[in-house]
Amino acid sequence: MTSRPFRFLAVAAAAIFLTGCANNGQLRAQDAPPPEATEIWEPEPAVVAAPPDAPPSDAVVLFDGSSLDAWSNAKGERAGWSITGGAMTVTRGSGAIKTRDSFGDVQLHIEWRTPKEVAGDGQGRGNSGVFLMERYEVQVLDSYNNRTYSNGQAGSVYKQHIPLVNASRAPGEWQSYDIVFIAPRFRADGELEAPGRLTVFHNGVLIQNNVELQGPTVYRGEPKYEMHASRLPLMLQDHGNPVSYRNVWVREL
Ligand code: MG
Repeated sequence: MTSRPFRFLAVAAAAIFLTGCANNGQLRAQDAPPPEATEIWEPEPAVVAAPPDAPPSDAVVLFDGSSLDAWSNAKGERAGWSITGGAMTVTRGSGAIKTRDSFGDVQLHIEWRTPKEVAGDGQGRGNSGVFLMERYEVQVLDSYNNRTYSNGQAGSVYKQHIPLVNASRAPGEWQSYDIVFIAPRFRADGELEAPGRLTVFHNGVLIQNNVELQGPTVYRGEPKYEMHASRLPLMLQDHGNPVSYRNVWVREL
């Protein structure tokens, strides 16, 4: 129990201390540099038009619903997927398709739809994939009431990172990925300098938050980086299921 005189002294000391702080604060405000001293005017960000329901004005449109001209098959020949109703769809057995252009760091927007008619389960239901640089897969799968291993469900960085949540819509509904991809960096001698990184929004929900890629996507065993070009095509997987894509665009970072 504190005695009354001691409590009085403690309160008085605290009051004196707080007054001192306030005075110091005032003095500091007077001495501080003008607000302009911390304003930075250069560079001025470029103006980008961002209309609703359309790609930003500085985006490279890779698929607008009308043609597969920006894409080829693995051999560099005409992409064998079909186009109907503004969407391109995996034609089973025609193989993966990849962009004719190559990219490094990108912001990627892509919309996808798994078949409304549910067939198969686990990894066999609506499986496809978005491969950055032809090797780093963000899994596309019908993960609506379809349990599989967590690091293989929709929005996983396949066999590397489990999505933070399952934001899947029902089969047959359009869904979106908005991806920020930072490519890995390699030294001249081929050693890894910095791993790749991925941020993914699934239907607007953050599911991968700047995760570190462990290496290229592999089905069996541990991933291992191997030096590659600083720009490579974007690839979409043919996993035998008629998954559709639309509104595909990238912004180079
Ligand atoms: Mg896949």
